[in-house]
Amino acid sequence: MDKNKDVDVVVIGAGVTGLVTAFLLTRKGLKVLLLEKSNRVGGQMRSIREDGFVFESGPNTGVVSNPEVVELFQMLQGCCSIENARKEAKVRLIWKNGAFHPLPSSLSTAVSTPLFTWNDKIRILFEPFRKKGDNPFESIGELTRRRLGQSFLDYAVDPFISGIYAGDPSKLVTRFALPKLYNLEQNYGSFIRGAIKKAGEPKSDRDKLPTKEVFSVPGGFESLATALAKEIKEENIRLSQEGISVQPVADGWETVLSASEERIHSRYVVSTAAAYDLPSILPFIEDKDMKPISSLHYAPVIQVGVGVVKADGHVPNAFGGLVPSREKQQMLGILFPSSCFSDRCPEGGGNLSFFIGGSKHPEYLSYTDEQLESLVKKSLSKMLGFPANYTPDKIKIFRHERAIPQYEADTEARLASIAGLEKQYSGLFLAGGIRDGIGMADRIKQATRIAEEIANLN
Ligand SMILES: Cc1cc2nc3c(=O)[nH]c(=O)nc-3n(C[C@H](O)[C@H](O)[C@H](O)COP(=O)(O)OP(=O)(O)OC[C@H]3O[C@@H](n4cnc5c(N)ncnc54)[C@H](O)[C@@H]3O)c2cc1C
Repeated sequence: MDKNKDVDVVVIGAGVTGLVTAFLLTRKGLKVLLLEKSNRVGGQMRSIREDGFVFESGPNTGVVSNPEVVELFQMLQGCCSIENARKEAKVRLIWKNGAFHPLPSSLSTAVSTPLFTWNDKIRILFEPFRKKGDNPFESIGELTRRRLGQSFLDYAVDPFISGIYAGDPSKLVTRFALPKLYNLEQNYGSFIRGAIKKAGEPKSDRDKLPTKEVFSVPGGFESLATALAKEIKEENIRLSQEGISVQPVADGWETVLSASEERIHSRYVVSTAAAYDLPSILPFIEDKDMKPISSLHYAPVIQVGVGVVKADGHVPNAFGGLVPSREKQQMLGILFPSSCFSDRCPEGGGNLSFFIGGSKHPEYLSYTDEQLESLVKKSLSKMLGFPANYTPDKIKIFRHERAIPQYEADTEARLASIAGLEKQYSGLFLAGGIRDGIGMADRIKQATRIAEEIANLN
């Protein structure tokens, strides 16, 4: 076997970031080799299909929040289509005092909702006149309390942050974790004024592409991974590559595949691996530069997929129900994939996804399957009105010890270190959730930027 091989780009990690990067580079005519540690493509995108149910182990949905998502699916036409969530999925429920309440979506529901205090409902009218913050490290919790009030933090922002980051709003820094919100205040002085002004600003045709719709793909997100892999082509993907290491050489990069002792020479290397995987992939980087990156904290998440053959009206016609920390329940929230997308369960059934743990409750990781099942069963009857002692037809437990990167105060040092390394080592791209956002749309946008940068260097 030829132990040396030349390609233009080595991409490490076959999650959505690595797959989209490799797919776009291949389309641009570059020779790419995609290397993956595990024995499958998809990374956190994993869909389990069983008896008519589709259970997601990782992401259930993305948001069409940028043009890159639309453009990706345009390029994949015929291989993988986007599936927008049904209209009902616009309803978000929030648990308060023993019941789910819809998050207000109009002025009249905003006035009547029991979620926020009267004091805060009146206070919000003065939000446009409140002083702009000047702390670039202000947490999401502090910012919300300052501009909107404690009840908005407790019953809107805290559950929203649980739903996205499984995180703690008092630790996540707004500038890094919710940059669009941070910029609204910084650029326009107010969220409300900023949102109105932005809505009135002229938009290019490309800016009009994002629909802000919630999306998935038929059959679950693993189908997106399979479609991308097919386009990249099997011969350009190597799975089960444990122990990859990369070194800079005179005219580019050398990647050593420890299993086969192959050496791959490339002009560019893109890593999309998680922060904790980087020290072994990039052993030449000094500790002082690697530590600020590899120390990134990930929130643990346990996702429990629940399938019921007869839903009997117990699965709400909504996106999901989120549970504020203040309510002290053992759940972060429940998504209702069968209410959002077609073919997630047999006709008349229901598909639910429970989220447990997060930054504030890592202790659930040590719960046994029996303990988690019992917790889920209790919530089915307490929160969704299933009969007491009801046993669902399917329960699938997915434990993610390091699920979601937390963009906390150490993000500034991490980003500075990444920028320094990319400048020092030309041709090295450090990508994935270590920067640029944690959602599916963020990952697709980042992959597009990197593919364009590399193509422009050629
Ligand atoms: C439980 C859960 C629920 C989520 N829900 C949502 C959601 O509803 N909406 C949303 O937008 N986002 C959600 N996310 C986030 C979203 O799934 C991720 O942002 C996205 O899938 C990350 O893709 P990635 O390619 O950057 O990383 P990954 O998917 O983690 O891929 C990285 C890949 O690199 C590989 N790798 C690591 N080390 C090496 C090595 N040494 N050599 C070779 N390969 C290596 C890994 O095996 C992996 O396949 C969720 C995440 C989790 C965990």
